[in-house]
Amino acid sequence: MAKREVVDVAIIGSGPAGSVAGALLARRGRKVLCLEREVFPRFVIGESLLPRCNHLLAEAGLLEAVEARGYQVKPGAIFWRDGQPVRFAFAAGRPGTRPAAYQVPRGDFDQTLATRAAELGVDVRFQHQVTGVRFDDVAARLEATALVSGEALEVEAKFVLDCSGYGRVLPRLLGVDRPPTLGPRVAVFTHVEGDQRPTGPEAGDIWVCVHPNGSWIWIIPFSNGRTSVGVVGSPELIEASGATDERRLYWHLETDPTASKRLAGVRRVMEMKRLAGYSTAVEKLTGDRWALTGNAGTFLDPVFSSGVTLALESSSRAAVLVDRQLAGEEVDWGREYTAVVDRATAVFAAFVRGWYSGELLDVFFARNPPEGVKASITSVLAGYVLDTGNSLVRDPEQRLKTLHRSLARREARPG
Ligand SMILES: Cc1cc2nc3c(=O)[nH]c(=O)nc-3n(C[C@H](O)[C@H](O)[C@H](O)COP(=O)(O)OP(=O)(O)OC[C@H]3O[C@@H](n4cnc5c(N)ncnc54)[C@H](O)[C@@H]3O)c2cc1C
Repeated sequence: MAKREVVDVAIIGSGPAGSVAGALLARRGRKVLCLEREVFPRFVIGESLLPRCNHLLAEAGLLEAVEARGYQVKPGAIFWRDGQPVRFAFAAGRPGTRPAAYQVPRGDFDQTLATRAAELGVDVRFQHQVTGVRFDDVAARLEATALVSGEALEVEAKFVLDCSGYGRVLPRLLGVDRPPTLGPRVAVFTHVEGDQRPTGPEAGDIWVCVHPNGSWIWIIPFSNGRTSVGVVGSPELIEASGATDERRLYWHLETDPTASKRLAGVRRVMEMKRLAGYSTAVEKLTGDRWALTGNAGTFLDPVFSSGVTLALESSSRAAVLVDRQLAGEEVDWGREYTAVVDRATAVFAAFVRGWYSGELLDVFFARNPPEGVKASITSVLAGYVLDTGNSLVRDPEQRLKTLHRSLARREARPG
């Protein structure tokens, strides 16, 4: 016989999306239960945040706890191609863009968020795995197992937020998974020590290096002296580069003109990790009494470090709408949630497609781009993808194409 509990909102997963949604709802007086399968701290990838995250963490009452952890401040992003850099300093973004974000070891970061969310009133239960869901006229009913005792739990909730990330609990249970539109890619990564970091204001930047074979490498420095390094490429390119994942990663680091200098002689301090087929898509983001947020809904690609930002953007929005619905207001989930999340995702999707087609790199590396262009790009790279004052946000696909064409014409002019 399952133990029964009744709450206002049940949240699946205590990653960044779950903690932010939980904190927002608890601060509005809702009874929130967050079920998390793992025990924290646990490793998860997604270590380079964007400035927009700081806004969203502040709104949820979680930023102070994050600031107290002393994480590496990230003032910008540097992209390297053929040994040449182009830097986007967040401080040079459009008005309203925060000047920095953080580089975070996610085990510690996620634990910090979950701990603070619990202090704000969320009932966070670790080692509780959600296994089933049913909906009836009055409630959503989640089935879960307490992994230590083996005890079954049934949670009756007025609303369920799925923040289960790669667990993708509701998409699987409700059959709303859809094949992703982006091509299959593989990521191989680890943490190292001995990274010869730049000094000065750029020390905390993320580096993204385009490898001569078309793969790309990330270098993310942490304040604990460790550095996250990884390579992303097509399955064929990655497999062809070595016999083991360690060799595949090191081969890319050794043969890249930029990474080879900075990372010469680094020591691996964590096991090798690999993720493949991580892009996700769904038929719909909401239904009666449920919504998907963060990676449980959509995930594009790691190249612009957009995952946690989009997770916080969607979970914050969902939490506020759930609160309004529970207060008796009519909520138009299609217009107020799906359309907004889709818009935000579409901006990064256009950037990701432009990255892999090569057009975006031409834009990044254009000499003397017209005034305002760099600020517009910077604000997107900082995560401000709902700022409709930015032409790149209003019509990202078309605007990037136009920009690419006009910059190519300028580049072709002599002088
Ligand atoms: C190679 C790679 C590199 C990336 N780099 C970056 C980056 O630099 N910056 C960035 O912002 N993003 C990055 N991302 C994306 C980032 O990993 C995700 O977007 C982010 O973690 C999503 O947060 P979330 O809260 O939605 O889910 P998660 O962080 O995945 O959290 C979900 C939680 O739900 C729990 N859960 C799962 N199933 C169940 C269940 N059945 N019951 C209970 N709990 C459950 C999990 O244990 C987990 O704790 C990267 C992704 C990849 C693949």
